Amino acid sequence: MSRAITMEEPIRVGILGGGQLADMLALAGYPLGLRFRVLDPNPAAPAGHLAERLTGAFDDPAALDRLADGVRVITYETETVPVTAVRHLRLRGIAVRPGRRPLHVTRDRFHEKRFLGRRGIPTAEFRLVTSEAELRRAVDELGTPVIAKTRTLGYDGRGQTRIHSARDVSAAWNAGNGRPLIVERFVAFRRELSLVCVRSLTGEIRYYPLVENVHVEGILRTTTAPAPGITAAIQTRAESIGKQLLETLDYVGVLAIELFETTDDLLVNELAPRVHNSGHWTIEGAACSQFENHLRAILGWPLRPTCARGHAIMLNTIGRIPSPADIAVDEDAFLHDYRKTPRPRRKVGHVTLVDSDPERLAVRARRLAPILAEIERGAP
Ligand code: AMP
Repeated sequence: MSRAITMEEPIRVGILGGGQLADMLALAGYPLGLRFRVLDPNPAAPAGHLAERLTGAFDDPAALDRLADGVRVITYETETVPVTAVRHLRLRGIAVRPGRRPLHVTRDRFHEKRFLGRRGIPTAEFRLVTSEAELRRAVDELGTPVIAKTRTLGYDGRGQTRIHSARDVSAAWNAGNGRPLIVERFVAFRRELSLVCVRSLTGEIRYYPLVENVHVEGILRTTTAPAPGITAAIQTRAESIGKQLLETLDYVGVLAIELFETTDDLLVNELAPRVHNSGHWTIEGAACSQFENHLRAILGWPLRPTCARGHAIMLNTIGRIPSPADIAVDEDAFLHDYRKTPRPRRKVGHVTLVDSDPERLAVRARRLAPILAEIERGAP
């Protein structure tokens, strides 16, 4: 008897969040035969081209059920997802990776700092304050300058206030609308680094090389990969922090660790339980991108190598996207347009340059940066 040939159903992946990170995940997964469905509260979220887009709130059980229908696994591209959404999906028998605990730890700066502190992982010294009087005491104890940050929903420098002297305390407290704040000692770092690492369902772990990040007013501007001048000892130190975090959280997927490099150590600034802007260079600059490895990890597939192919610089385009003609001075620049409405301070795309020669790469980046800055100045 001849066997009936049936078309296999494609594997579907659900994503909480339909921003550019979901879009880049779908782009990486499409050649692997994967199909995607995203859920986002914003009907204009960019990831509705390669993925089926649902519009709905993350805490709407009916929307979560529609996202879960027929998918193999669900992941998230933002830590603003409420933990209750993950619980709801788990109760429906759907795997969410990374799971509930990484989300609980990272969506609140206080939980994150306490979690790191209890495991002996160094961070900037901090206080949790719930009143203006406590803020004043914290500033007194830590010494100025300090940075006050909201516990949740702060990104790209939003929800952050620098306090330079005791005179700034009232204004900083009022800016937070009475919400509790984390107050951090200002770290005189040498530079900012990040480690993107990935752990598969099978427990396999891989690390990308440390990269150097330059932020302006809290917004990531450029990533240089690998970070220049990294010794084996620093890479190993960062990887040991990564391993500890991945294993303690029984983490599955890509984790990004933002670090301050000081004269004698690495301090963890922030964790992102997802693919990360400082890993965008991996699309063209690494053997396998963070996006593909994230998908491989959450599906339990073997991971692919994370080594750099030469040197890369990623420049974020802020406010307004250049056209291909705008950046044609560099004939080998990779442009990524997130198809977002132009707006000042908003990341709307990025450009990656890859080169075998780091000096030539730096020259190319210096030629391109003023063009991107000029376009940004024209943002509406
Ligand atoms: P965050 O939102 O916590 O990642 O902060 C955004 C940026 O603000 C960081 O990448 C740093 O450039 C700067 N920053 C945040 N916290 C501190 C700190 N405690 N000391 C010095 N700079 C900081």
